[in-house]
Amino acid sequence: MKKIILIIFILVISLSYKEEKVVNNNINSKYIALTFDDGPNNKTTPRLLDELKKRNIQATFFVLGLQAEKYPEITRRIVNEGHTIGNHTYNHYNLSRLSFLEAQNELQKTSDVIFSITSIYPKYYRPSYGSIKKNQINKINLKLVRWTLDSKDWRYQNTPRIVKKVLNEVDGNEIILMHDIYDTSVDAAIEIIDKLTVQGYKFVTIDKYLQVST
Ligand SMILES: [Zn+2]
Repeated sequence: MKKIILIIFILVISLSYKEEKVVNNNINSKYIALTFDDGPNNKTTPRLLDELKKRNIQATFFVLGLQAEKYPEITRRIVNEGHTIGNHTYNHYNLSRLSFLEAQNELQKTSDVIFSITSIYPKYYRPSYGSIKKNQINKINLKLVRWTLDSKDWRYQNTPRIVKKVLNEVDGNEIILMHDIYDTSVDAAIEIIDKLTVQGYKFVTIDKYLQVST
């Protein structure tokens, strides 16, 4: 009888030890949400999707309503391959320069376009230029997502410079801003993924990121 109790005791101890180990692994993980604005683009987005698929990595795409309408197949592909789709306005206007109703329309129209193509209403938005008036924020039924690390890919359009900036600045959990409309950005994203994966970073959608990083 004593022997059985001892075995049960050892079993309980070893199980709880295992559980603790799993929890610690989670704490030590570094998460990155790669976010791509301004697409989809028929020349660059499919290649990025191919490369993400090869690596079984999910990212977040803040699409323009105008572009989603132009490329519904690519928009559907983004969702079908497990990425999170977000709203980046319809025309890429600076919302802070628009009236409340105009700004609302830019976002609503884009959410409607995304829904008509994918049957999904986006939960997140990123205003073009990250710019929106405070009184516009509260009235929009979307969660605002900015970024913690700007790759400046749109400015550099130079793969080694983009990669270097991100690798120099990355520090634990990050939301990285990129644009899937330049070949240099696609190349840089692939290199960033491969280099940071080796360093123990995990790449996740913004949905997952917000769960694990806060
Ligand atoms: Zn943009």
